[in-house]
Amino acid sequence: PETISIQELANRMAERAVDVIRLLMKQGQMVKITDVIDADTAQLIAEELGHSVRRVAESDVEEGLFDTADTAEELVSRPPVVTIMGHVDHGKTSLLDAIRKANVVSGEAGGITQHIGAYQVTSPLGGKITFIDTPGHAAFTAMRARGAKVTDIVVLVVAADDGVMPQTIEAINHARAAKVPLIVAINKIDKPDAKPERVRSELLQYEVQVESLGGDTLEVEVSAKAQTNLDKLLEAITLQAEVLDLKANPDRVAEGTVIEAKLDRGRGPVATVLVQRGTLHVGDIVVAGAEFGRVRALIDDKGANVTEAGPSFPVEVLGFNGTPEAGDRLAVVESEARAREITDYRQRQKREKAAARSATVRGSLEQMMS
Ligand code: GDP
Ligand code: MG
Repeated sequence: PETISIQELANRMAERAVDVIRLLMKQGQMVKITDVIDADTAQLIAEELGHSVRRVAESDVEEGLFDTADTAEELVSRPPVVTIMGHVDHGKTSLLDAIRKANVVSGEAGGITQHIGAYQVTSPLGGKITFIDTPGHAAFTAMRARGAKVTDIVVLVVAADDGVMPQTIEAINHARAAKVPLIVAINKIDKPDAKPERVRSELLQYEVQVESLGGDTLEVEVSAKAQTNLDKLLEAITLQAEVLDLKANPDRVAEGTVIEAKLDRGRGPVATVLVQRGTLHVGDIVVAGAEFGRVRALIDDKGANVTEAGPSFPVEVLGFNGTPEAGDRLAVVESEARAREITDYRQRQKREKAAARSATVRGSLEQMMS
């Protein structure tokens, strides 16, 4: 059921909390300023204080933001979005860097100077591949917790000199829970003590059966350091993507997910957004989490300004009024008024949740003290 704290109710009416408390007491309810009351009681109190009430349900605010379906004819192939996972020191960062470097066309403007949290490369088989450049389970888990599904394929990096380790197993479990297919990259094969065969048999214990052992999980032996077989890894990703038949409608208002966000001294809030449906344009009014803004500029992974970004394209979005959070879903809305309504509502929700949390903490502290 919907609830509101006494403090929040008083704030919204611009009344004093003591007056709200006094009215509630008159009705026989003993409450403190931090207590929450149900929406019906709140409405009675508000009306008694001479305010008119408009009850806004979550569905009024959130409906229509993400739920319009596309027809089959509107769907067009889109690049796969790939996350690299694996045990610490097995070479996730090295592999991401090596793939990016190997793919830079000489003389390309900006080169690889830009780090925006995601980048695109061209596959040797044609087509693009998008890598989320924030390896690690924390980012993946945070996004999943917010209901954001951004990854199509997980590349599981296992160092050939170290084998399957705890975070390798964790990554397998994450991918399985998210129903995302794995490609195994057996890394560090340049090392004299590399034992790729051992990695293959260890993976079997966790029900990951690679192709060379008769299974259907693609595998590639690579060396991030020696830049060995990086093309083969990109080919495997493209093949896996073809099986997944990834599509999106580019001709609709954009939806996406915030991959990273920060407050930049010169540029203000900067969010790296992965567009997942539709096309994002400069000038669009966007909401992400509890923040909104009008897109002032879009910057791609090479540092170039672009006017639009379609499905699976990562871009930096400038123009937010506040800094959204990684994992926040982004939607385009028709007006600033609508953007404000949605984000006001979400900010209230956030405040109320925080207040409820601190009330619980306070309550249990009081219990501990007594
Ligand atoms: P991460 O923790 O998974 O991101 O691992 P890093 O990319 O930071 O790599 C950990 C260490 O392994 C670093 O010292 C790298 O230089 C080294 N390393 C990564 N890939 C290779 C490789 O293919 N061969 C060798 N010999 N060393 C590697
Ligand atoms: Mg790393």
